[in-house]
Amino acid sequence: MTGAMRAVWSSLTAGAGALGDLVLPRACAACESPDVSAGRLCASCNIRLLSLVALSYCPRCGTTVGPYLPVGDDGCPGCPATLPRFARVFRLGPYTNPLRGVIRDLKYHRRDTMRRRLGHMLGQLVAGGTDDGETAPQLVMPVAMHWRRRLVRGWDHARTLARAVARELHLPVGNELIRLRNTPQQAHLPRSRRIENVRGAFSVRKAKSLSGASILLVDDVTTTGATANEAARTLLQAGAARVTLAVVAKGEPPTAYAQHAAGT
Ligand SMILES: [Zn+2]
Ligand SMILES: [Zn+2]
Repeated sequence: MTGAMRAVWSSLTAGAGALGDLVLPRACAACESPDVSAGRLCASCNIRLLSLVALSYCPRCGTTVGPYLPVGDDGCPGCPATLPRFARVFRLGPYTNPLRGVIRDLKYHRRDTMRRRLGHMLGQLVAGGTDDGETAPQLVMPVAMHWRRRLVRGWDHARTLARAVARELHLPVGNELIRLRNTPQQAHLPRSRRIENVRGAFSVRKAKSLSGASILLVDDVTTTGATANEAARTLLQAGAARVTLAVVAKGEPPTAYAQHAAGT
């Protein structure tokens, strides 16, 4: 069992008993089955989550790769021609259920259980993949949301997720990265327009505090990587030494993972 899979197992009990579960009706966060076993998921979604987390993926672009394809720090054959500015990506799995439902729960319900569970799993994944002292992150930061969107939604789910990951890693959460423009959501745009849409969307305050820092950037989903890439570019330009990305899920065509995922 890999470190990531162990983290899923241990997370089955890590969030149990949180206040949200005591006061709200219990249902599986992914398929809404009333038969919740642990960590706000039903037994079959928990098993499916394990099979997603077990998939091999490219550390540069986050895309699922076959278990026998050797993938190094240079990336996979499917990596974009211009590699992203973040040094590597950690992900729990592809953007499909139950992770799709888990992210919906994180975004639209302020429940502690799922946030703690995701923070635990992502934190363990990062801790297991960054043994080298030079590359280990020193500061956790969410991919910043524009204040207007935060006002409409009521909270910033990427920031609450970043806090949960930081707690797991015993690291501080930085607020230096800010979003200047309230850009149209990337999901509503064709891939070709996503890079242009986020160009210049971020800025930093207190740039001095970022000098030479190794930063862990946290978000719920990455698809083309354009938003995270622009955030990483902004942080590196402000003096950060290294940016690593940690996401719950990677949006990719089902053909990328269907043949490798058990039970799909
Ligand atoms: Zn379920
Ligand atoms: Zn790749």
